[in-house]
Amino acid sequence: MIDDIKKLKGFMPHHEGLALLKWSETFSKYGPIIEIGTYCGKSSAYLAYGAIKNNQVVYTIDHHSGSEEHQINEEYFDEEVYDESNKRIDTFPIFKMNMEKLGIENVIPVVAKSELVSRSWQADAGLIFIDGGHSMESALNDYHGWKNKICSDGALVIHDIFDDPKDGGQAPNTIYKKALAEGFELYERIDTTVCLTKV
Ligand code: SAH
Ligand code: MG
Repeated sequence: MIDDIKKLKGFMPHHEGLALLKWSETFSKYGPIIEIGTYCGKSSAYLAYGAIKNNQVVYTIDHHSGSEEHQINEEYFDEEVYDESNKRIDTFPIFKMNMEKLGIENVIPVVAKSELVSRSWQADAGLIFIDGGHSMESALNDYHGWKNKICSDGALVIHDIFDDPKDGGQAPNTIYKKALAEGFELYERIDTTVCLTKV
């Protein structure tokens, strides 16, 4: 049930998640979905629900050790994803449990750094969703690493776009502007999530 996704731990508001679901359904006609930034699988679940309509899969990439803001003493630290025995964030167990709870079988986790995966990745995607690290370095790496791995009718989706720096970090907005300058065109925007297509 779509409403069950709402309750999952994560950073995807429901109305933007529903947009992910719709775009995933539209663009998975052309190829698989790739997501950068799994966390506990909330956005992966919306993408999976859309992709299943075309019998497609979602590859979701995350080292599962959290971004800067998820670390101990940082703003979005959550003790439920802290692995006490290894003294590090590990979101993989809750991700796995969430997929099982929702009966989702078309999400394929890739547990590694985004930059490592993009270097050897071959299959072009119908849609690439960038929601990984929000440092400028990380966002630029994700954009450069993945922008050429979208098939010709496909889409590039970016989360956490804030027009006003007072509302949030500007790294995602920077790669959004870069994409617009490099031949991507805005297809639709829902709040802080943009969907671009290549013209
Ligand atoms: N899409 C998620 C939220 C993602 S939070 C949701 O819907 O809730 C960002 C995630 O990016 C974190 O889980 C972090 O571990 C991951 N991340 C940050 N930098 C990364 C990198 N260089 N490679 C892979 N994953 C990274
Ligand atoms: Mg996000």
